[in-house]
Amino acid sequence: MALVNEQFLKLPGSYLFSDIAKKVAAFKESHPDKDLIRLGIGDVTQPLAPACIAAMNKAVNEMADKTTFRGYGPEQGYDFLTKAIVENDYLPRGITLSTDEVFVSDGAKSDTGNIGDILHADNRVGLTDPVYPVYIDSNVMGGRAGELQSDGKWSRIVYIPCTGENRFVPQLPTERVDMLYLCYPNNPTGTTLSKAELKKWVDYALANDTLILYDAAYEAYIQEADVPHSIYEIEGAKQCAIEFRSFSKTAGFTGVRCGYTVVPKEVSGKTRQGERVSLNALWNRRQTTKFNGASYITQRAAEAIYTPDGKTQIRRTIDYYMSNARVMKEGLEACGLTVFGGVNAPYLWVQTPDKTPSWKFFEQMLYEANVVGTPGVGFGPSGEGYIRLTAFGEQENCVEAMRRLRNWLY
Ligand SMILES: *Cc1c(COP(=O)(O)O)cnc(C)c1O
Repeated sequence: MALVNEQFLKLPGSYLFSDIAKKVAAFKESHPDKDLIRLGIGDVTQPLAPACIAAMNKAVNEMADKTTFRGYGPEQGYDFLTKAIVENDYLPRGITLSTDEVFVSDGAKSDTGNIGDILHADNRVGLTDPVYPVYIDSNVMGGRAGELQSDGKWSRIVYIPCTGENRFVPQLPTERVDMLYLCYPNNPTGTTLSKAELKKWVDYALANDTLILYDAAYEAYIQEADVPHSIYEIEGAKQCAIEFRSFSKTAGFTGVRCGYTVVPKEVSGKTRQGERVSLNALWNRRQTTKFNGASYITQRAAEAIYTPDGKTQIRRTIDYYMSNARVMKEGLEACGLTVFGGVNAPYLWVQTPDKTPSWKFFEQMLYEANVVGTPGVGFGPSGEGYIRLTAFGEQENCVEAMRRLRNWLY
């Protein structure tokens, strides 16, 4: 008999997006003539950069020829890509990494979920609330979350609230944590930390021997100068932080699948006996055993992002999304709403009027304005009273959605 990992049984169903889909379907059933604008999706909509397409076509042709065909590649990623990453994403910011500190993968969801493989189940986990659900669910699976309580929180997880009251700048936890997830620019709130604010967390981690798991999937959306693109811009971070990056939002790779994780040689964990162990070595062992690399074609596409043409082309698409974000932020504020995010991230985190519960506001917006968002409470208890809108749609839809909201609310 195979016993199951009973931690999985603790997980409630992932109801958020299916609940949204059900409510949208019910609306369409009763209002077949109304057209909806969907600002709830967290997926990109614009096609890949031509430089990536050309690189992929070239790679496909190489695969068709015996002399250039490639079989298994290095599990950690091809040198051409890790070199391009080190030289373009880090060196210009004064961060020196060696290519064997970069691990190419099929995306940041897998890596943020899998990193728990190399960490003990007894670790205390801290995370900001609201949060990207992968961090919580993967720790439930790994046995680190405890039990789900009636307030929607897990008993062994330390929640660090981020709300309008603290302007989304999380306070250092009063309880010690061993592992800490930070995501900046943040999904779902779209907010960022300044260098000085992030430094507080690095200092905390160094003082408490805490491992920071830093998700920088939205790094490419940063517009303001004082916002750090990498946690390694902060002194000492190489001793205490692993950084996750993704080409999904940077270059529209949500369907192509490619990302990478930086595990510096300096970052370590401990055995129960107090012996320090290199996390780079452990992650390398984990990846070489359980992962066989992102495809050659995909990695050539990722490499092309770093060419002059590639850089210009992906910037143009990001600018398109960020001009949507601007239109939306101005439009929402013109409706008298309080809006966070949307400046260095493609997400707008909107406070509902008079603290209307997230789901109630979601339904009102659906029925009165025919606009779909995502209820903030779906991302955690501190998300109650907010709704998330994304800037990944078409410009004309964003403009029309703002017109509808204005007619409804004003
Ligand atoms: C979209 C997203 C990612 C990227 O995930 P991929 O698996 O690389 O597509 C990572 N973290 C957050 C918070 C995200 O929103």
